[in-house]
Amino acid sequence: AERSSFVVVANRLPVDEVTTTDGERQWRPSPGGLVTALHPVLVQRRGTWIGWAGGDGEAPEPFELEGIKIHPVPLSADELERYYEGQSNATIWPLYHDAVETPVYKRRWREAYRLVNQRFAQAAADVAAEGATVWVQDYQLQLVPAMLRDMRPDLRIGFFLHIPFPPIELFMQMPFRAEVLRGLLGADLVGFQQRLAAQNFVRLARHLLGLRYEGQSIQVDGRKVKAGAFPISIDTRDMERMAADPAVQARAKQIRAELGDPETIILGVDRLDYTKGIELRLKAFRELLADGKLTVGDTVMVQVATPSRERVEHYQTLRVRVEREVGRINGEFGKVGVPAVHYLHQSYSRQELAAMYVAADIMMVTPLRDGMNLVAKEYVACRADAGGALVLSEFAGAATELRQAFLCNPHDPDGVKEALLRAVGAEPGEQKRRMRLMQRHLRTHDVASWARSFLTELGATDDPPAEH
Ligand code: UDP
Repeated sequence: AERSSFVVVANRLPVDEVTTTDGERQWRPSPGGLVTALHPVLVQRRGTWIGWAGGDGEAPEPFELEGIKIHPVPLSADELERYYEGQSNATIWPLYHDAVETPVYKRRWREAYRLVNQRFAQAAADVAAEGATVWVQDYQLQLVPAMLRDMRPDLRIGFFLHIPFPPIELFMQMPFRAEVLRGLLGADLVGFQQRLAAQNFVRLARHLLGLRYEGQSIQVDGRKVKAGAFPISIDTRDMERMAADPAVQARAKQIRAELGDPETIILGVDRLDYTKGIELRLKAFRELLADGKLTVGDTVMVQVATPSRERVEHYQTLRVRVEREVGRINGEFGKVGVPAVHYLHQSYSRQELAAMYVAADIMMVTPLRDGMNLVAKEYVACRADAGGALVLSEFAGAATELRQAFLCNPHDPDGVKEALLRAVGAEPGEQKRRMRLMQRHLRTHDVASWARSFLTELGATDDPPAEH
């Protein structure tokens, strides 16, 4: 088979299997920032995307979709439980997010993580052409760079971590810490969302393996491994276009009307995840209602909490806590036909979300820790009217760029309440000024520029064309 000069390796493939009206199974592209950013490069270089297609058991044969070669990797039900739900989402995810929930360590999860990473690395070794560039994505696949370098020393290997990278003290908890670090050091370039994360990484390399570094460049077995910050972003123009669509604008008006045309709509949009600070946001809102600073009827909160990782225990207990808090607020402050909080444990299309962003006066993004947070950027991009206000946690990667947001420390309830009140009370002129500055930033720092700067730093813009 034809091999590729450009290969993306990610846990998930950018496709979904759907059943058409006549009952036929079919693959359809699933929208997402990463695939949007990489689509042009993938098409131009006849690239391959390696990943899991969803489902358990046998993987479908490789196929092509919209100019991208799709190479599915199988995962069994048992591997899904141990590699994905266990090691990835109950060990690494909480540890890398400042251990805001206690990470769980299990040997049998770690073994599956190793085995699955080996399978992804093997798939990349099989499809990559001589001297090709391979770009490995995210925390599920941290062992892949070293495994792949072992099999194919000719390749140029990049790795990007979409989530935070923790300080040394936290990373050192992990039982197989040296193996993970060596896995990452198999890459030529390791990218992070923030400069602080890149610094954590180079310091860890010295602390744990005694490696020398200069600036952001680490010496490993006579090779140089570079670390750097590449804050990911959104397809800003596309988001702006979608928000300007008359259907989306009309839907936004309708949403406001359905909510009873209140003065202030406060919106939250998150996966139902304990890193997102949904509970503390609800509590801040409850206290402001209790203090008489906000009034039900004038103000309404809409919280979208998309179902996520429902088989992991942390997520089940979080759901109970969030739903109890919503019930408590509505019980205490709601009126017949006028709830204080509209809680939506559902997943929405990008269009519907855009309409919600356009309808919302205040967007609350209050994670305790977040690699980036694209919702914050999407909200800003949707406000062509320069109305609306963003309340943003300092602990979201996005806060490094969106300096004109109403920033807050999510660990400080009074600080969150104050930031929310300042946002509610801000003059339209001030809101406009803040929005415009953030919008200008997002136009020049979109997801295409993110991909470009990573690949340029990797030196991957001058590879030979694919073999035929
Ligand atoms: N999103 C969506 N439907 C929903 C909720 C969220 O399509 O019902 C999208 C949202 O527009 C954003 C992404 O999911 O692009 C969430 O990314 P973010 O970085 O905010 O958080 P993550 O879920 O990756 O931790």
